[in-house]
Amino acid sequence: MSEMPDLADVFRAAISIKEMILTTPLIESRELAEISGAMKIMLKLESLQNTGAFKVRGASNKILNLTDKEKKRGVITFSTGNHGKAVSYVSARSGINSVVCLSENVSVYRAEMIRSLGAEVVVYGKSQDEAENRYYELIEKRGLVPVVPFDDPAIISGQGTIALEMLRAHPELDVLLVPLSGGGLLSGIAMTAKSINPSIHVVGVSISRSPAMIESLKAGKPVVIKEKPTLADSLLGGIGKENNYTLELIKRYVDEHLIVSEEEIEKGMFFAFSKHSLVIEGAAAVGIAAVLSSKINLKGKLAGLVLTGSTIDQKKYIEVLNKHSK
Ligand SMILES: *Cc1c(COP(=O)(O)O)cnc(C)c1O
Repeated sequence: MSEMPDLADVFRAAISIKEMILTTPLIESRELAEISGAMKIMLKLESLQNTGAFKVRGASNKILNLTDKEKKRGVITFSTGNHGKAVSYVSARSGINSVVCLSENVSVYRAEMIRSLGAEVVVYGKSQDEAENRYYELIEKRGLVPVVPFDDPAIISGQGTIALEMLRAHPELDVLLVPLSGGGLLSGIAMTAKSINPSIHVVGVSISRSPAMIESLKAGKPVVIKEKPTLADSLLGGIGKENNYTLELIKRYVDEHLIVSEEEIEKGMFFAFSKHSLVIEGAAAVGIAAVLSSKINLKGKLAGLVLTGSTIDQKKYIEVLNKHSK
């Protein structure tokens, strides 16, 4: 069995990543509390985090704790989204070479966004799988150190620092709602929060278009599911065929799972914009979506929601606003 990360690792991560991250605001949503009957609802704005998403926490904890030899070799990943941005940003800021592998079907806009942060972008193949194969080749050929997006103790501990910040500000939090895909974020937050307060209720929110973790929990092992296009594209992707950490940690620490639809995600995004002037991507809106659609009973509770990021295609975003504006 692999060594699982613990609370001490999260405290160490908080020290390691201090210079690389923002301690993001935690704001109150009176509007959401009123709708749900909650005593109070707090929104953790990782959408304002450096690079536009929380992934910089895990990536910097991983990269900054590499040995000097490993740092000299450089790092590599094959994410299309926020993890790619984070690896590119952290590496460039610490003088480490980074390579991000993308397939040809990733938008030019995304490739450019990652490149502009400092990484060498390798565009290869017609699918994510082909890009992934190229990634393994480059690890071999160039001796680059892989930085995976979620199933790694350093990544999980880095994401767990979000819970430290939330509980430091509001130790009396009763419920946490957290977006879920590969589970680095949820497992880090759940392990941290439960280690501090075992009676806190931790909820994962998945999307109906790609509920890979929920299916894997049911099966008791990683399940590959056929995913469909979604507004919450940062929540696409499976949990890995050889999941060593996040599945087990989520099984151990997470109390409840919810699933939201595309329409509900749109409403969550629109709510953030219209009530709080916040631009958030689909993946970041799933917690608000779950509350607005009454999928969880928050009566009298103090709840914390993590708004995870703000990387979104402008045209798609404006469409959502137009569709829901009155
Ligand atoms: C990566 C990501 C998530 C999900 O995190 P996992 O660790 O893969 O579960 C949620 N929201 C945003 C914006 C992300 O980039």
